[in-house]
Formats: sequence, structure tokens, C-alpha cells
Amino acid sequence: MKIVMNPKTGEKRNECHKRSCFHPRSLFSFLCLAILVLTAFQTGCVKGQEKQGTVLYFSAHQDDETLEDFGGILQDLRDGLEVHVVLVSDGGASKVRKALQEEGHDLSREAFSAARDSEFRDALIALGVPDENIHFPENRLPDAELSEYAEEVRALLQYYVEQYPDAMVRTHAYEVEGVSSHKDHVTVGNAAVSLYESGTIKSLRLFVEPWVREDFESVTGIEVKKLPEKGLRNSERAAVSNAMDAYAFLDPEHGRYGIGARSVKSYWKQVRKEMTSYCFDYDGSK
Ligand SMILES: [Zn+2]
Repeated sequence: MKIVMNPKTGEKRNECHKRSCFHPRSLFSFLCLAILVLTAFQTGCVKGQEKQGTVLYFSAHQDDETLEDFGGILQDLRDGLEVHVVLVSDGGASKVRKALQEEGHDLSREAFSAARDSEFRDALIALGVPDENIHFPENRLPDAELSEYAEEVRALLQYYVEQYPDAMVRTHAYEVEGVSSHKDHVTVGNAAVSLYESGTIKSLRLFVEPWVREDFESVTGIEVKKLPEKGLRNSERAAVSNAMDAYAFLDPEHGRYGIGARSVKSYWKQVRKEMTSYCFDYDGSK
């Protein structure tokens, strides 16, 4: 830093605008710039590179991805994986449709499904899944009847696995003796296991409904683990809370009836309390 005196007034001032001067403010600016460059570089690395891999979630109904799988989805996003979620059924069999009809909302099965789809989409977006990775197959199957369409369920899963050949698959647990999981969930889980056994699926993680977790834990050979690892971070907790809120959002004029939140109240309560997903990795030995 150089002190310069005005020969007329005798006033002294710092000549900080000179190139040789290194003012603390300049140091701060330099550090800010360095951080920006580093951040841009790191972001560029993540965006510029291929993702670490792809995962495919198959959800039997609108709400399973939040009630059962959210912890896995968040873990996969943490791990830099590209997450896709496929809805297997139309979700049209819920008893809430009848309740809504009695309240004056005379929804067709299609309109009811569409309302549930909006809840599903908003919940997944809240969790961080890109809109374009949320799949509603045209040939999805009738809710509550999946066990009667076991072959079609398998074909639907196979179609998506072939679209993403190296994807790791996550879905509901298969049928285990003594555990009373939802029949539709079990059908999807069984289809995934069958595709694993045939070599179509290379990596399979199965999620357990939180309300039957203890039953699964008592089955020999199944090691139930919790996700996300080390619990939720603050931002993730907010994301899960927003996802749950998507199922309670009411705006009938725009097709929102809070269907998910009305259908299985005790389940939502449990998930809000535990804020954990439970799963095990299937390796063909169980
Ligand atoms: Zn379900």
C-alpha cells in the first residue's frame, strides 16, 4: 500500500486503485471468486459426468413411494444415482373414491386415478425426483387386482428394465410366509424376484412396509436395514414432510382431494414418527 500526498492541499490518501495495492477487500473478492470457480467446477463435474448409475423404483400404488420407499429414494439421490419411479397400478380401487362421491365429488375411476397421480407426482418432485423420471405406463394395471395380472405385472417391469438395462431395481418385498403384506405389493415383489432369478434384473432391493417390519426382521436370512443411512438431514426431512403434504393437499376445483392422507391414516402417522424406510437387498438366497 502506498500513501500519496496531494501537493496542493497536503491531504494524504491510500493509493489503493493502483495495481500493486493489495487491499483486504481485494483478498475477500479473490476468495469469493475462488469459491465460485471451485463450486462451478464441482457442479460441472457432477452435471457433466454420467450419473453414478440408474435406479428404477416400481410402486404398486400412488403413496407407496412415500409411505415405504422415501428413505431409499433419498439415499439414491445422495449417492448421485438417476432415480426413476414407475407406477404399476391405476390406484382406482381406494375406498376414498366412494367417500368422495358421498361428499358430492362424483369422480369417475379415471378422474380419481388422475387425482391420485397428481399427489404421486408432487410427492416425488418434493423428494427430488425429476418430473421426466416419473412414469405412468399406459398399460398400468387395475388396483387391488394385481395378483390376477401377475404375468402382465412381470411384463410391465421387464419392459422398463429393458429400457434401462443396467438399472438397479427397487420395489416391494416378495411374498414371505407369515408376513401379511399388501397383496398388490407382494405381486410386484414376486415379479421382480422372478426377473432377478432369470437374470433380467441384476441388482434388487426390496422395501418392507413399516407396519410389518418386525415380521420381516424375524424371518431368518433377511437383514432389514434402515435408509437413508444415518437418518435424514434437515433438508431431507423438509422434503419428506412436503411429500407427505402432497397427499393431504385439498383443492377440489383443481382435482386435489387429499386422497392419500385419507386412505391409510395410521400408516402416515407411523411414517411421520419414524421417518425411516426399511429394506433388504435380495441376492437369491432367501
Ligand atoms: Zn400400496
